[in-house]
Amino acid sequence: MTLIGARLQIIRGITCLVLSGFIATTASSAPSAKTDVRYDITVRIDPASRRIEGRSLITVSAAGELTLVLGRRFEVTHALVDGLPMGRSISSTVNTQAWWIPRRQHGQRRIEIHWRGELAPMDSSLEHRQTLGRSEPASGSAGTFLPDSSGWYPHLVGTLPRYRVSLELPSGQRGLVAGRLIDESETTESYRASFEFPFPSEGIDLMAGPYAIGTDTMRGAGGKPIQIRTYFHPQIRDLAKKYREEVKGYIEFYETWIGEYPFTEFSVVSSPTPTGFGMPTLTYLGIEVLRLPFIRATSLGHEVLHNWWGNGVYPDYAHGNWSEGLTTFMADYAYKEREGAEAAREMRVGWLRDFSALASGQDMPLTKFTSRTHGASQIVGYNKAAMVFLMMRDLLGQETFDRALQLFWHEQRFRVASWTDLQRAFETVSGRDLRIFFKQWLTRSGAPVVRIAEAVRTYSNSSHRVSITLEQSEPIYQLRVPIGLRTEEGEEVRMLDLEQKRQTFTLEVPARPIEVTLDPGLRLFRQLMPQEAPPILRQVMVDETVVSVLLPETGEAYAAAELLATKLQNHSLRIFSATNALPTVSMLVIGLHDQIDAWLARRQLPLRPGIVQGKGSAQAWTVSRPGGATVTLVSARDVAALTALARPLPHYGRQSYVVFEDAKMIERGIWPMRMQVIKID
Ligand SMILES: [Zn+2]
Repeated sequence: MTLIGARLQIIRGITCLVLSGFIATTASSAPSAKTDVRYDITVRIDPASRRIEGRSLITVSAAGELTLVLGRRFEVTHALVDGLPMGRSISSTVNTQAWWIPRRQHGQRRIEIHWRGELAPMDSSLEHRQTLGRSEPASGSAGTFLPDSSGWYPHLVGTLPRYRVSLELPSGQRGLVAGRLIDESETTESYRASFEFPFPSEGIDLMAGPYAIGTDTMRGAGGKPIQIRTYFHPQIRDLAKKYREEVKGYIEFYETWIGEYPFTEFSVVSSPTPTGFGMPTLTYLGIEVLRLPFIRATSLGHEVLHNWWGNGVYPDYAHGNWSEGLTTFMADYAYKEREGAEAAREMRVGWLRDFSALASGQDMPLTKFTSRTHGASQIVGYNKAAMVFLMMRDLLGQETFDRALQLFWHEQRFRVASWTDLQRAFETVSGRDLRIFFKQWLTRSGAPVVRIAEAVRTYSNSSHRVSITLEQSEPIYQLRVPIGLRTEEGEEVRMLDLEQKRQTFTLEVPARPIEVTLDPGLRLFRQLMPQEAPPILRQVMVDETVVSVLLPETGEAYAAAELLATKLQNHSLRIFSATNALPTVSMLVIGLHDQIDAWLARRQLPLRPGIVQGKGSAQAWTVSRPGGATVTLVSARDVAALTALARPLPHYGRQSYVVFEDAKMIERGIWPMRMQVIKID
């Protein structure tokens, strides 16, 4: 259970790793999608000996100079450029070798190249975090994964090629690349398959393994047949049918919402390592990941949607990757909305709370986000961006919002598009000037702090009125602030346009006003005030000013407490004496049950909360103090129970409390948000 939360995020995170491999090679020279480049590749792989042998015929429509790159581990055995020998490589780094191909007067270029080499062993013992950022081409009988960024085939820098790949594997092994399956055959000796990707692509990833293949065919929106395939390891083949059915449901859902599915295939492919990648026409997920019951309900839909956003329209990385935020909004968040208003609200609370728990320096503007490299970049690049789309939809209404996305899809399919292109689509369809909206949410880091400074009843003879003063931090944003109004007759939400540092609004209300609440639905992206945000365990992990109080004085219990404190913090420990007066900074306090109870009583802090009282062998919870500092308490029955926490507890940063029985989490949760409410008398 420990890994579920962490894994789910990793799966989302890895999604665009393949694409980020692409950025590394093209960031300096923008891909010129206008040049028509085609690869015709034939490759033979023997996973047992890890040998690969390939031939490629590259044709280029333009006469300009080119740079050809291949992974360093491969040897070129034959190379002709327009019929002449290609010459020696001009440069090589640890991982790559490169050739410069000079400009020609006119005409089409033709490069013929043969190569071979040995692949790295597939290491299925990797932990999921280690698979992030790995770009070695790896092979073995359990699986082969040749990511584009590993340079497993010769490619031209800065181009978006169309391709055809024919692969050959020994009998028992099956494989694929993204694209349309145009040919497949099997004999007692070998498996062969050919794929075609007829659109400008961001590169080629190849996967193989001892797969059982399952196929269903569905009709897409335009009547086109779409093949839904599973390439599953034998041990999970019984899950295959369900996965294909779910994929079909997601394709129908997004075709209705956005427009026609752009491809003729979608495959779910299992990996011996705990990875999670999304490529055009397929997703590559670890065997153990595919076994997790919630993957079909969440991550799978996210991956399918990337065929529109990310792999159908390519983000302009140099100006910020919008595709993760839009995919999060239309997949993860949309599923929560389908579940109910409460589930959706909870997700928004999580986004705001996580953002508010970021340490200084971890935040960045959305225009700087490229792909997920750590938790903080997900909080911005996925969650903040998703909330920006939510605010956009709240502003324009569902129908206009959807039509803008449909227009964006229609215009940008298989092109590199930026936030500016999205803005233009929203402006065209809505007829509104959205410059300020996009500028303030995309180019600034941080978020506005908004508070109700005052809310009073103002009297008039004939009606009830309430006068509300709102304040915001600097820099000033133009905000539509939802305000909940409760009167003797009921509740309603009004939108107030806050455009200054301090502004007063007078509202007529239908009956005697009782109280006002700031943004009751949590639909505005803002920095929660310390007293609003429910404290979570993550705060002691990221906040470098935290001090630790270890209550056991000596021996094994002290050592266990010290180890745990180290595991929970990304920085060196600052030990604070238990007898000192409470510091103003946040604290982590670790001890045995009776030590914790005595310490809380002596400090006049809230006693052990009822929800954890008497449960499990160990408990951790947070308490917030006036002024914003938090106290995180970790309390164990005995030394063994304390020791057992060192591995699992750091995974529960998003919780306010968690209960363990030895190393197993048995209960967890988040304290409720404390809303900004002002009573009116
Ligand atoms: Zn994604």
